[in-house]
Amino acid sequence: TGAPGAGKPAKAGVPGVAAIIAVASGKGGVGKSTTSTNLALAMAANGLKVGLLDADIYGPSMPRMMGLSGKPDSADGKRLDPLVNYGIKVMSMGFLVAEDTPMIWRGPMVMSALTQMLRDVNWGELDVLVVDMPPGTGDAQLTMAQSVPLAGAVIVSTPQDIALLDARKGLNMFRRVDVPVLGIIENMSYFCCPNCGHRSDIFSHGGARAEADKLGIDFLGEVPLDIAIRETSDAGTPITIQQPDGVHAQTYRAIATRV
Ligand code: ADP
Repeated sequence: TGAPGAGKPAKAGVPGVAAIIAVASGKGGVGKSTTSTNLALAMAANGLKVGLLDADIYGPSMPRMMGLSGKPDSADGKRLDPLVNYGIKVMSMGFLVAEDTPMIWRGPMVMSALTQMLRDVNWGELDVLVVDMPPGTGDAQLTMAQSVPLAGAVIVSTPQDIALLDARKGLNMFRRVDVPVLGIIENMSYFCCPNCGHRSDIFSHGGARAEADKLGIDFLGEVPLDIAIRETSDAGTPITIQQPDGVHAQTYRAIATRV
């Protein structure tokens, strides 16, 4: 631990984990956690052994989205056992502190918590560990990017200019620390009225694809704004689980194959 730049961080891998993929966004509220969850579930549906690490220390949402509660055990007295639902191993700060406890930690504590959730957890054998990163491009993001051998990062953005601008910052951060950016996902891409089927481009549309082209990175896909996506996440049965043959599950599974 320590401030970014204080000493050279060790990039030791996590034993048993073949690839670690970060899901990041330049700012909060763009659907990063929703995307991480459904992407992880889609990867599992595609036949991979998947873990999900909620690195959003200040606003953990994995317990609710993955329908998990309770405290992790430690079978060996050394490492925490992740909680499991839908065949996915999950670790979140939300399992370790009460939901209404404000996290007022300073940078170094956040960093050591992140490192512990990554390394002091019995992940077992995983094909991929999806890390739901904290929003933004601050200390926590840099620590993750520097201290973990990330196979790559996926950037989630809404189509709006401002979200894209923030996404660009995130992109540059990963590039600076030599983490390959696997592509960009446009979330809340458009809205289809459940009653009349009319499509509205609430946050404009296509911005992420245009931006990806401009930056020379892959455009991985677009997910519309759909109340079913929010309701299923809130209920702890994400859309990929709730409607496994539905259009959104198909989209997430297609994105999962491109990552
Ligand atoms: P972040 O992790 O970027 O802060 P969340 O994944 O928590 O964002 O999403 C913020 C809110 O938006 C949540 O209530 C979530 O259910 C909702 N949401 C995210 N993506 C969609 C979508 N495509 N359609 C409808 N609601 C969405």
